[in-house]
Amino acid sequence: MNKIWIGTNWKMTKTIAEGVAFTKELRSISEAIPSSIQLFIIPSHTALVPIKELTTETDMYLGAQNMHWEDSGAYTGEISPRMLAEIGIDLIELGHSERRQYFNETDVAINKKVHAALNYSIKPLICIGENLDQKEQLISKETLAAQLKVCLQGLSKEMAKEILIAYEPVWAIGDQGVPADAAYVADIHHFLRSTLVELFEEVGLTIPLLYGGSVNQENFLEYSKLENVNGLFIGRAAWDIESFQKILYTLEAKLGV
Ligand code: PEP
Repeated sequence: MNKIWIGTNWKMTKTIAEGVAFTKELRSISEAIPSSIQLFIIPSHTALVPIKELTTETDMYLGAQNMHWEDSGAYTGEISPRMLAEIGIDLIELGHSERRQYFNETDVAINKKVHAALNYSIKPLICIGENLDQKEQLISKETLAAQLKVCLQGLSKEMAKEILIAYEPVWAIGDQGVPADAAYVADIHHFLRSTLVELFEEVGLTIPLLYGGSVNQENFLEYSKLENVNGLFIGRAAWDIESFQKILYTLEAKLGV
């Protein structure tokens, strides 16, 4: 596994115009970085179509932030995998902690969405993470194993080749978040890798494991060097193009990717 996945979810921040301007700049930056960095961006639904036009001829992957599992139906306010596939997105982010916390998204629902995405050849980027209570009660690993096992229920090894996992401890995310110690991240990623191997044998070794949660200019390099960290999922520190560019160029220079 030699690709490093680096990407950002814009949450509910950028308008179409802002997203298009950002993507144009990122497109020129991407031409100067090696193909071993697999870049991806996850805009709001409204910006997907214009941004798809900008990413089509590039190696950048385009993702969406959420979807329903049904192809069509009476689900007001939802968007379906069929609709997203029509746009030509590459990735779907599923199970972000904000979706779990504010929209009651469960592991069972995420599992249905994972199957629906794979059915349309869209790669699921599945977010998992323990909250502060679970960490303090020393049940982080049990929580993460349960999330993984339910979210990935019913996947064959062939299907598992198409997924990505992002470990995002809830207590580390956002402007109230506390960045995790690299040693903690290393231990959890090692545990996640063994759980994936338990589930999918040798395929489990190849599933990209991304880290996210207050990744910033001070800590991104340390996280990126950890053995079982195959990428970074970045929020705030990647929303400003100059800050994102600095991360990408430093990674290239320091890791020689
Ligand atoms: C996130 O919300 O998934 C995230 C990683 O955000 P931030 O980097 O801003 O903590």
